[in-house]
Amino acid sequence: PLPAVAWIGLGIMGSPMSENLIKAGYRVTGFTLEQDKLDRLAAAGGTAAASVAEAVRGADVVITMVPASPQVEAVAYGEDGILAHARDGALLIDMSSITPRTSVELAAAAAAAGRGLRVLDAPVSGGEAGAVEAVLSIMVGGDRADFDAARPVLDALGTTVVHCGPHGAGQTVKAANQLIVAVNIQACAEAVVFLEKSGVDLAAALDVLNGGLAGSAVLTRKKHNFLGRDFVPGFRIELHHKDMGIVTDAARAVGAALPVGGVVAGLVGAARAQGDGGLDHSALLRGVERLSGT
Ligand code: NAD
Repeated sequence: PLPAVAWIGLGIMGSPMSENLIKAGYRVTGFTLEQDKLDRLAAAGGTAAASVAEAVRGADVVITMVPASPQVEAVAYGEDGILAHARDGALLIDMSSITPRTSVELAAAAAAAGRGLRVLDAPVSGGEAGAVEAVLSIMVGGDRADFDAARPVLDALGTTVVHCGPHGAGQTVKAANQLIVAVNIQACAEAVVFLEKSGVDLAAALDVLNGGLAGSAVLTRKKHNFLGRDFVPGFRIELHHKDMGIVTDAARAVGAALPVGGVVAGLVGAARAQGDGGLDHSALLRGVERLSGT
C-alpha cells in the first residue's frame, strides 16, 4: 500500500497539492488553521484532523506547507508538534519556502530525537497553477536515499523534481528562484508602463515579446494580471518580501553581490509598506505606476 501522508498547511498551495496526492491514491490526513480549508480537504476525500499531533500520529510521510520559518518551527517543535508526535522512522518533507538555516537545524533536531526521523527541504516553484496542475518544479535538499524514498510522492506533485544537495540546498535554490522571479516581474512591470504610456497595444506587444528572448514564465503566466490589473493572489507580495529577505541574507553570508536584486528587494518592501502586501506579486506594477505618476 502507498504510505499514509499527513499534510500540515492547506493554503493556496497546500490545498491543491494535497488533493493531487488524494487523486494519486494516497490517504491524506490534514491540519491547517482555517476550518473552510479542512472542510475542502474532507470533501476531496481526505481526513481533517483537529491538531498537528492528530494529523501526524499515523503518518509515514509528513508534509508541511506553511508560510515561513516561524510556522515551520511551531509545527515541528511545538508541544503538539511533529517531532514529538510523528511515528518512528517517519519522513518529514518541508515544502515551505524558508531560510536554509532553518532546514539545516530541523534536520539536526530530527536526527537528535533518536527515532529515525528523516527530513528533506523541498520548496517548489510554479505558483498556484503549477500546484493545481501538478507540474511544479521541486528543489530538494537532504540525503539522497531519503530523496529516492520521497520521489513517488513528489512526482505526484510536480514534473521537475531535482535533488540539489545536502539539507538546505533546496532552499538555497528556491531563494535564487525568488530573486530571478522578482527581478523579472519588476522588468516586465516597467516594460508594461513604458508600452502603455507610449500608446502601443499592450496585448499585442506582450505576445510578440514572449516569442523572443524577452519571453518568460512570468510574462506567460502573469500576462492576464498585467493586462487586467488583476492582482488577486496567487503569490502574495508579503511572501515575496519574506523571500527577498532570505536571499539577501544568504547571499551576504557567502559574499555574493546582489546589485539589482537588492534594489528589487527594496521595491518589494516598498510595495508592502504602501499597502500592497496582500496582492499578487504582479502588483509590483502598481509601484512602477506610482513612480511614473500614473
Ligand atoms: P497560504 O498563506 O495561502 O497558506 C499557508 C497555510 O499554512 C494556511 O492555510 C495556514 O492555515 C497554514 N498554517 C500557518 N501556520 C500554521 C500552523 N501553526 N499550523 C497549521 N497550519 C498553519 O500560503 P501559500 O501561498 O500556500 O504558501 C505556502 C508556502 O509556499 C510559503 O512558504 C510560500 O512562500 C510558498 N510558495 C507559494 C507559492 C504561491 O504561488 N502561492 C508558490 C511557491 C511557493
